[in-house]
Order: sequence, then structure tokens, then C-alpha cells
Amino acid sequence: MLLKTLIFSDDKYQALRIRRFLMSMVAYLLSYLLVYITYVAGYLDRWVIDVGMLTVAGVFGFFYLWLRSGLNRRMADPSLTLIQMVVATLVIMFLIYNAPQVSGLFLIIYLVVFMFGIFTLSTRQFVALAVFVLASYAFVIYRLHIDHPGRISIGEDVLQWIALACLLPFFAVLGGYIGSLRSKLRNSYDELQRAMEVIRDMAIHDELTGLYNRRHFMEMLSAEKSRADRSGQCFGLIMLDIDHFKRINDTHGHQAGDAVIHRVGETIGLSLRAGDFSGRFGGEEFILCIGQTGGESGMENTQRCAERLRASIELLRPSELPAGTRITASLGITEYRRSEALTSTIARADEALYRAKENGRNRVETG
Ligand code: GH3
Ligand code: MG
Ligand code: MG
Repeated sequence: MLLKTLIFSDDKYQALRIRRFLMSMVAYLLSYLLVYITYVAGYLDRWVIDVGMLTVAGVFGFFYLWLRSGLNRRMADPSLTLIQMVVATLVIMFLIYNAPQVSGLFLIIYLVVFMFGIFTLSTRQFVALAVFVLASYAFVIYRLHIDHPGRISIGEDVLQWIALACLLPFFAVLGGYIGSLRSKLRNSYDELQRAMEVIRDMAIHDELTGLYNRRHFMEMLSAEKSRADRSGQCFGLIMLDIDHFKRINDTHGHQAGDAVIHRVGETIGLSLRAGDFSGRFGGEEFILCIGQTGGESGMENTQRCAERLRASIELLRPSELPAGTRITASLGITEYRRSEALTSTIARADEALYRAKENGRNRVETG
């Protein structure tokens, strides 16, 4: 694992680039083997082989360090594909110049180089590279013709040049096509990720209030319980129920009722401090988990929070209700007792809420 991180990188994009680069190095080594066979067959001088070996080692070291140092991230193409292909082109041209009799062999190797570009280059980059390749090949043919007029048959090389000129546009089009497929794939993947995020969000939130839904609240509460059981820091629980809500619905309509639920949910959301969380427990019933703050007992904090919430709800004046209509809520609070079942904590808060209703509503009772 450590070795893997050392060779590649802990950044997954960088690791992918380095992996691709190492793949291209395998192609380099195989090509080197081919070049070596050319040497054994007597088409190449020994010094060309040595320079070739040094070049491969140099290219490897240079690009690996470039990728591993992270400096490649500043480039427009951080995979350095185009630059590597330009370097490979120069190496191939060097070989063709030194073994013109087997130039066809090197051109075949060159097609492998082009294959690597298919996955990353845009059609424009491909065309630019093709122009560069054809120009440098034409230059090599020209130099060979000048430097060693007897060594090559110019007709054959020109024919090869034409063949390459016909092939490269095909690669460029193919590369561009694969590139567009890749970007389409990436777009649909991004879209899927966004859709997943929306679904995940919908699965844990209540639509009307934006607070957590009951299921997710219970999941979070259960995590809180485990934490409390470990640390001994117990939390407070508040159950809140809007008073005479049926009357609001009956008098002003269901939509006005919904608006009231929305406003109460908003008020609850605003009352939360870091570490607290809340949920819509049922129709017009809400639940809050209140963390302990340093020093004081959980109950003091919960009590204060519940009282503040009750007072804020009392001040709400939803525009959907006639002026002067008051909304109030009753609250039951309790503290989680270490190691007890959550159903017991909730039942205690519920029972306190029931008492708050019995004792006249718009009040906080402790259970
Ligand atoms: P109490 O003070 O005793 O709580 O009286 P209440 O009228 O609030 O009593 P109860 O809890 O029985 O009434 C809740 C009503 O809330 C019943 C139901 O029709 C309504 N309700 C439940 N969910 C929704 C909702 O999503 N939107 C609206 N508009 N009404 C809802
Ligand atoms: Mg009610
Ligand atoms: Mg109710």
C-alpha cells in the first residue's frame, strides 16, 4: 500500500496520470526491443542504440519527476500527453534518420504512439501533432537526401510520407470522436452524481420544512446515543406540538396550515446551535436533540432552548393568516439517561408534552 502511494500518488487523478505514463513507458521499452533487433540485424550503428537507451532513461526520469512533483498540474494538459508525443516523435525521427532502410518499421511504432493520444487529445491537438509529424518526417527525408544521397530511395520515402499523411487525419477524426464520447460519458456521470445528491437529500429531509425527516432524525439520534453512552455527556430532547392546529386548518384552510408548519420549522431551524439537530416527527409535531454545552447540565441548556423557541413561535405572524392570529406550541423536554433505550427518552418527552397541553398549552414541561 505504502509502495503504491510512493510510486503513484495519493491524489487519484495524479495516480491515474502516472499509471498511464508507466503504460507508455512499457510501449517505449517494447519499441526499444524492436530497435535493438534492428541493430542486431545490422541496420543501426551501436552508438544509436546507446543514445536510444539513454534517451529512454532520460525521458522516463524527466517525465516521472515532472508528474510526481505535481508541477504538471499547472499545465493546460496535466497528463502531459501532447508533450510526451512530441518527444516520441523526435525520437522516432532520430531513428529514421539513422536507419532509413527500415523507416517503415519505425512508422509502425509511431502508430502506437498515436494510439496513446486517442484517449486524451482533442481533434485540434491531433491535427497540430499530425502537421508536426509530417513536417518533421519531410525534414528528415530532405536531410537524408542531402546528407546521404545514395542511402535512400527518395520515391519510397515520399510514398511512406503520403501513406502517413492519409492515415493521420483518420486518427485525428477517431481521436476526436472518442474524445467526444468521453466527455459525453463524463457529463452523464456528473449528471448522475448530481441526481444522486438530490435523491440523497430528499431521502433525509422533510419536504415542507426542510428539517430532517423522522427516519433520518432517529438515525442521527441513535448515533448521538452511542456517543453519549461512550462519553457520559448526555443530550436533551425536545418534543414540540403546535397548539390547536386542527382549528387553524379548519378555519383558514389546509394551505394556511402548511404555511404555519413551514414557519414553525423555519423557526426551529434558526434556533439550532452547532451540534444540535431537529426533525419533523409527524404532522405538526417536531423533535429536537440539544447537545450539552461546556460546564452546565444538559437540562439547563435544553430548558433555555425550549423556552426561547416557545417565545419565538408565539411571535410568529404568518402572512397567510388574518392579522392578529396567534400561533403557539407546547413543548415537552427531557434528558437522555446513559444506556437507556431511546424509546424511553422519547416517551418521557412525549409525556411531558402531554402535561404541557393539559396545563394550558403554550408552555414547556420537563419529564
Ligand atoms: P393540540 O393543541 O392538542 O395539539 O390540538 P391539535 O388541533 O393540534 O391536535 P392534533 O395534533 O390532533 O391535530 C393535528 C392536525 O394536523 C390533524 C391533521 O389534519 C393536521 N395535519 C397533519 N399533518 C399536516 C400537514 O402536513 N399539513 C396540514 N395543513 N395539516 C396537517
Ligand atoms: Mg397539535
Ligand atoms: Mg399533534
